[in-house]
Amino acid sequence: MVSLAETQPPKKNRWRERWHAFRNPIHEEKARVLRERWNALPPSLQTPNQISGRHLTHCGFTLGASYCSFHCTHCYLPKNANEIPIPSLAQVKEQIDANRRFQGPGGGLQITGGDVADAYWKAGRPDELVEIIQYAYSVGSIPMLMTHGQTLIEHPEFLERLVVEGGLRQISVHVDMTQAGRHGFPIGRVKCEADLHPVRQAFTDLALRIRAKTGFPLEYALSFTVTRRNIDDVPEVIRWYLADPQRSHVWRMLSFQPEADTGRTISRSGRSRPMMCGRRFVRGSACRCGAMCRFLAIPTATAGPRS
Ligand code: SF4
Repeated sequence: MVSLAETQPPKKNRWRERWHAFRNPIHEEKARVLRERWNALPPSLQTPNQISGRHLTHCGFTLGASYCSFHCTHCYLPKNANEIPIPSLAQVKEQIDANRRFQGPGGGLQITGGDVADAYWKAGRPDELVEIIQYAYSVGSIPMLMTHGQTLIEHPEFLERLVVEGGLRQISVHVDMTQAGRHGFPIGRVKCEADLHPVRQAFTDLALRIRAKTGFPLEYALSFTVTRRNIDDVPEVIRWYLADPQRSHVWRMLSFQPEADTGRTISRSGRSRPMMCGRRFVRGSACRCGAMCRFLAIPTATAGPRS
């Protein structure tokens, strides 16, 4: 199979490209895939609020080894996770190509399917992950690495390679009290989300160090599973991020995901619901405009990857 990287047009003059993008903000190919997506929707879904086919085409992601050294109580991975071999580099590139065709240029691509930073590091194949990130950019996708981050915090030189050689700029870091496996923070001893603020601060400091050393703008998203056990801590977590501007410069998005009955999730009692998360969000952000912010803050229940 011919990879998309080999079929990309030669690089044009940067300023001419920028001028063209200014005059035509939606790339011709993107406009085509959006049109195709819209036309593929059943008429009942072609509503005024529909974003599929208008702003987005689909959520791009790779599937990998399904390996993770953590054993969170809420995990989307299958029960046979950690038994599946890491796919070859060629297979992962095929997945990236398939996503890219479906999304058009500039589509966000989650590099996931287990904790891939963990998987590639432990398998002694870190070079491959660097190449996967490079490849995603080379075909016109925007990769985001989904991870619990423990490998990166213990091996910052690996993160530095991903940033400098791979071009990685976005990481989604999963931190919450459903996690089992975080060194120094055994799940039985974490009683509330505030107990994990030192972990969040350690990631903040890591990004600031990498930024200072490399000059590249590494950014995070927080990925957080909301359960009955930690839902009342959501305002506290938001307040922690808002308390220091350096934190919000690094953590550009907070994603609160109500628990979903998926994968090897083991705690299925008293599920938290999106509206409940929305109310905590408004409380945490100290917002006074009520209805509008609640609307903006309502997270969707997701079966998708946290890392
Ligand atoms: S939820 Fe993420 S960090 Fe937790 S076990 Fe599953 S893949 Fe690992």
